[in-house]
Amino acid sequence: MATPVARQFGGARRRLIEELQQKGIKDMAVLKAFDDVPRHLFVPTGVQHRAYEDAPLPIGHGQTISQPWVHARYLELLGLTGRERVLEIGTGSGFQTALLSRLASQVFTVERIAALAEEAQRAFAATGIANVAQRVGDGSLGWPEFAPYDAILVGAASPDVPRPLVEQLTIGGQLLVPIGGRDEQVLVRVRRTPEGEERMSLEAVRFVPLIGTHGFRD
Ligand code: SAM
Repeated sequence: MATPVARQFGGARRRLIEELQQKGIKDMAVLKAFDDVPRHLFVPTGVQHRAYEDAPLPIGHGQTISQPWVHARYLELLGLTGRERVLEIGTGSGFQTALLSRLASQVFTVERIAALAEEAQRAFAATGIANVAQRVGDGSLGWPEFAPYDAILVGAASPDVPRPLVEQLTIGGQLLVPIGGRDEQVLVRVRRTPEGEERMSLEAVRFVPLIGTHGFRD
């Protein structure tokens, strides 16, 4: 039987999914992933009561869990079929990783802050997620050992497209990365083609900086 806390979060979760639909998210697989993954288990206890607001929340170490709409938009843009191998840069809370684990076959995720990676690992264990491989390190270099990837998502802002990430895509694979300054960016989609790559600027976004060799300096 559902506990009162689970019931309380269940109602809030359904309201968040309705809000995402009202804000234009149509992909039913993405909406189902939001229904399946309990966001309150991916945020610190102090902000758990706000877990189903469509808002970014602090997760410690100066970082944030992104706004649910941003995660939903990223996932809708990727249009995953369930067969893909996906690389995520910036594990953060692990919530988007968990959504990806429902939408792709295998997920690889890199986080530079070890304490956040450990918290995320605990949340993966608590939610029974098994198709995720994690690493602590500079994700602007990608994770070449397991390349190529069908899709790469960067959850932090970069001054330019990190070359290693494009090189680690399959032909036809796509990279989503916020490009711009430390405060404001444009979400860019890069598709690897047999001839090289195609870039498309999508929409204005705001992310914390990608700190690393192919990102910003610390
Ligand atoms: N999708 C995540 C979530 O909602 O929890 C995003 C978290 S936050 C917006 C971005 C994350 O990128 C932070 O945890 C930050 O530490 C991480 N990050 C920044 N630079 C990085 C790098 N070079 N390699 C790996 N992770 C990085």
